[in-house]
Amino acid sequence: MKIMMVKNKDKGFTLAELLVVVAIIAILVAVSIVIFTGKQKEARATVCEANRTSLKHHLAADYMSGELDHLDQGGLDEYIKMDEAVCPSKGTYSITGSFENGFQIKCGFHDGDGSGGSGDESKSAVTNLIEAVEALMGETGDKSNDDIIKSFFGKAGEKYQKFVKDINMADILKNVDLKALAKQITKMNGNGDVESMEKSLEAYKNKSYKVVPYYAANGKKVVPYYVNQSSYDKLKNGKTHEQSSVCYVDGHWYFNKETNYNGTAVSSAYVMTSVDKAYKDAKEKNIKIENAMKDNGWIKVK
Ligand SMILES: [Zn+2]
Repeated sequence: MKIMMVKNKDKGFTLAELLVVVAIIAILVAVSIVIFTGKQKEARATVCEANRTSLKHHLAADYMSGELDHLDQGGLDEYIKMDEAVCPSKGTYSITGSFENGFQIKCGFHDGDGSGGSGDESKSAVTNLIEAVEALMGETGDKSNDDIIKSFFGKAGEKYQKFVKDINMADILKNVDLKALAKQITKMNGNGDVESMEKSLEAYKNKSYKVVPYYAANGKKVVPYYVNQSSYDKLKNGKTHEQSSVCYVDGHWYFNKETNYNGTAVSSAYVMTSVDKAYKDAKEKNIKIENAMKDNGWIKVK
């Protein structure tokens, strides 16, 4: 019995192990080429692609060794989340297909369509946008909002503009208690009635907006925020920030107290600069950004 086992071991690699080795070598070759030529961004894209390929190899290897019997879509989503192969630009992976017909694994960042099969679409889209603006800043050396936004909507930012996505407000307001939010907005605003604010928020749910970047220099943070089409056109024509009532700070969505009663953006342009002020307050008063945002008229949604 013991001899048999030793013999088996002498056979060398199993097919599954070989697949993994081949995948690792392919990754090493691909990555070393781009790293040694100093092209970091391409390196990340290559690593991402290689990781998605190795994810497929892991799936195949586990399948062949009988560890995975019947994986439904939920199981597959879970599998790609647990696997150590992840996107170096923090893009979210989504998977479609089957063992019979093969799998397609897309990256929310590098495939640029943001269509995560799991998770919050709005969050993966803003994560990609933040990453894109940071990459642009690395290229241009820009440090102020005005310069960064001009670069972003200019020639230098052309390849990054695809990360400006149309996002449904329904995605942000999903599972949010609209009455409670309406109460907070009207209370902070000091006028208006809760019921019509709630109706207005309900109306927002049918709308989609473009998410564009603002750079809060005081916090050294890229802050994605919602704008309507006409504001977006103005940004493209050289303005550096526009009206908005919804922004994304430190992993959370915020509504402004000036949120409009007819489901449109607020009417004053100070809104985005108030986020920069919140970062300044947080630093000077040594308080959490969440509290500083509140002091500056922003309500955390989720
Ligand atoms: Zn990626």
